[in-house]
Amino acid sequence: MEEESSLITGPSAPTLDGQEIIPATINVGGTTFQTTMATLRRIPNTRLSHLSESSPEYRPDFDEYFFDHNPTLFQDILDLYRTGELHIPNNICGAVFSREMDFWEIPKYMVSECCIHSYHRYINDLDTITSIQDAIDDVLDYDTDEAKNSCWVRLKRRIWIFLDQPKSSKPAQVLYEFWI
Ligand SMILES: [Zn+2]
Repeated sequence: MEEESSLITGPSAPTLDGQEIIPATINVGGTTFQTTMATLRRIPNTRLSHLSESSPEYRPDFDEYFFDHNPTLFQDILDLYRTGELHIPNNICGAVFSREMDFWEIPKYMVSECCIHSYHRYINDLDTITSIQDAIDDVLDYDTDEAKNSCWVRLKRRIWIFLDQPKSSKPAQVLYEFWI
């Protein structure tokens, strides 16, 4: 009786349910990651789910998909396809991770519950910084003639004083701490 080999010898091998496993090699900035096409299809409408041998990223000589992109966070991205969970590493700036999700076309709602707080904190911080910057930009356009008649300009002056004298009041101090 001939002994059946359990080794995978070809480019694809049958699974228990009879479906083929098609391996996929993703080369991100020179670092290669091994997975399967089935895994990449798990999160539809994303950059990775659309890959096929007719994609511009496919390099037939190497039988891999190449992305000229920073590989640092790709492991976390790929884990989303494997586990259905997307976690943000503690030491990563929210802006960098957000840019990464944009590149791989992963919707923001896929960030796992345990990490959503830190992601939202980054968005809120960003909104706060943008508002403060807008206020400063407005104040820098300060016009003395206009100031005589406009409540809005007087308010802007107050914001300017608020920012210029950071220790002047409790809220100013809080903002100052945030700013530095
Ligand atoms: Zn998490």
